[in-house]
Amino acid sequence: MTPYPITTLRRENQTLVLENVGLKKLAADYGTPLYVYSKAALSEAWQAWQVPADRPIHICYAVKANSNIAILNFFARQGAFFDTVSQGEIARVLAAGAPAHRVVFSGVAKSVKEIEFALNEGIHCFNVESLAELDRLHAVATRLGKRAPISLRINPDVDAKTHPYISTGLKENKFGIDHTEALAAYQYAASLSGLNIIGIDYHIGSQLTSLTPYLDAQNRLFGLVKQLAEHGITLEHIDLGGGLGVRYRDEVPPTAASLVEQALNGLREAGFNHALMFEPGRSLVANAGLMLTEVEYLKPTQHKNFAIVDAGMNDLIRPALYEAWMQVVNIDEHDASAVAAQHYDVVGPVCESTDWLAKDRELAVQAGDVLAVLSAGAYCMTMASNYNSRQRPAELLVDGSTVHVIRERDTLASLWADERIPE
Ligand SMILES: *Cc1c(COP(=O)(O)O)cnc(C)c1O
Repeated sequence: MTPYPITTLRRENQTLVLENVGLKKLAADYGTPLYVYSKAALSEAWQAWQVPADRPIHICYAVKANSNIAILNFFARQGAFFDTVSQGEIARVLAAGAPAHRVVFSGVAKSVKEIEFALNEGIHCFNVESLAELDRLHAVATRLGKRAPISLRINPDVDAKTHPYISTGLKENKFGIDHTEALAAYQYAASLSGLNIIGIDYHIGSQLTSLTPYLDAQNRLFGLVKQLAEHGITLEHIDLGGGLGVRYRDEVPPTAASLVEQALNGLREAGFNHALMFEPGRSLVANAGLMLTEVEYLKPTQHKNFAIVDAGMNDLIRPALYEAWMQVVNIDEHDASAVAAQHYDVVGPVCESTDWLAKDRELAVQAGDVLAVLSAGAYCMTMASNYNSRQRPAELLVDGSTVHVIRERDTLASLWADERIPE
C-alpha cells in the first residue's frame, strides 16, 4: 500500500510535495490552517467513474462533499451532473457554470421557495422523499404551469455496514419511501397531473467499503422497477446513489468501476434499457485534498502529550462529529536523533473537549512544525464554521506547479459583517 491515500502526494528530500508544489512553501505563503486540493487527484477520481457502457451513465457529483465553485466548475467541465440538497447548492452549481438540466435535487425538507426556484431554473429531476412532498410538488408545479420531473427515493432497508450516523437506507432512517410502499406511492404520483415520473433512486449511506449492500439494494430496486412496469409505470433512469468509500487508513473499498459494472450487469440481466445514474461525493474529492495546520505548542502532561495546533473542529469537524480517523503527517521529517517520536493527541484551539483532530498518534514533532491532515477534500471545508469567532481557512487548488487561490481566508470584518446593533 502506498504510504499516502492521496496519490499525487509524495516525500521529496524529507518534505511533502503535492503535484509539483512543496507544502512548506504553501503554508508560509498563505498561512494556516489551509486547505489544499490537487487537480490531478480530482481528475484521477473522476476518471475512475468512467466506464464504457451501452447506455448513458450520469455521474452526479454530490455537492455537499465540497462545494467550492472552482471544484464544481472542474466537474462541470468533465460533463458531470450534480446531486444537490438545497437551493443554495443549486445556485452554486449554476454560478459555477453548469446548466440546470444537469441538476438533481435530493433532500427530505424541500421548501416551497426551493421547489419554485428549481422548477423555474429547469432542473433534471426532483428526488422525492415522501408522499407529502409529492403533494407539494404537484401544487407548486401546477401553480407555475409546469410539470415537475420526479424520481422516488426508495428506502430499501439494507444495512450499509457503515457508521450509524452516515447510514441512510435502513427502515428506521428518515430518508426515502419504504420499499413496501413504493408501488402505491408511484401510483399516487401518476395520478397527479403536475408531476412527470422519470426515475427511481436510493442512497443507502456513506463510506461504504463493500459491494454487497449495493447489490442487495440494487436487487430490491430492480424488482420494484419490474413491478412498476407491470403496472404501466415506466422510467427513464435508475439512480443508485452515492456512498462509495475511500481509503482514510487501511480500508480497501471497491473501485468505482466495479460498482458501475455490477449495476450494468444487473440491468442487462433484468433486460432493462434505462439510463444509469450515481451520486458520488466523497469518492470524487476526499483524497484530492488535505489541510495544513501549524503546531502552536507541545503540552506534555502526566497522562498524555498534546500537540496543540492552529486548526480546530470549526475548521475540520469529522473527528469530533463521528470519531473519524484521518492520517496526520509532519510535512517535514526530522532526523530521529534530533526529535524523538512520541504519542500525541492532536488538538485544536476551540473551547470544547471534542476539539481534536487525531488521538494517540506517533509523531516526531516540534512547535512551529506544519502538519498535514490527509483525505480532507470531502466533508471538511463544507462543514467549517466560525465557532469561537475563528476565520474559516483559505482554499488552494494546485495544478502541476501552479497554485490557484479558490477561496480567501475569512477576514476579521467578515465575521460580523451581517450583524446589526439596534439603534
Ligand atoms: C450525501 C449524499 C450523497 C453523497 O454521498 P457520498 O458518501 O459522499 O458519496 C449522494 N446522494 C445523496 C442523496 C446524499 O445525501
